[in-house]
Amino acid sequence: MGMATKKVGIISCSGEELPEGTISRIATRLVLEKLRAEETVTICLPLFLAGSEDERAFARVFPTITVDGCEKRCAEIGTQKYSGKPAATIVVTDILKKHPNLNPKSRDELSDEEIELAETVAEEIARKVDEVLGQEGSARRSES
Ligand code: SF4
Repeated sequence: MGMATKKVGIISCSGEELPEGTISRIATRLVLEKLRAEETVTICLPLFLAGSEDERAFARVFPTITVDGCEKRCAEIGTQKYSGKPAATIVVTDILKKHPNLNPKSRDELSDEEIELAETVAEEIARKVDEVLGQEGSARRSES
C-alpha cells in the first residue's frame, strides 16, 4: 500500500446508555458503508482500549476522527491517551445544539427523527474526512 494517509480511521464511542452513543455508532456506519466507503476504515474502540497493538499501531499511522455521543468524549480521550491526537473530533450533543428540532430518545428502534440526526452527524463526519484528507494531501505536496 502507498503511504498510509489515503484512509482515515473513524473511532466511534461505544455508548449504550445514551441515545447519542447509538447515534454516533450509526452515523459512523453510514460513513463507512455509504458516504466515504473508500476513504475510511474503523477501529473497534473496546479492543483499542483493551490494548490491541494492531489497533493502536493503526491509529498512530493513520489520521483519526473520533465520534463521541456526549461531552465525556470517551473515544477522543482513549485515542489521545493510547495513540495520538485525533485529526478531528465530533460530539453528537454539540451537533444537536445546532439542530434543536432533533431530539433523540430511544436506543433500540430509531425514529425517523433519530435517523435524520444520524444522517446529519454522518454528513458532518464525511465533511471532516474530506478536510483531513485535503490537509494530508497538502502536507504531502509541501514535503515533496
Ligand atoms: S462519549 Fe458519552 S455516550 Fe459515548 S461512551 Fe462515553 S459516556 Fe457513553
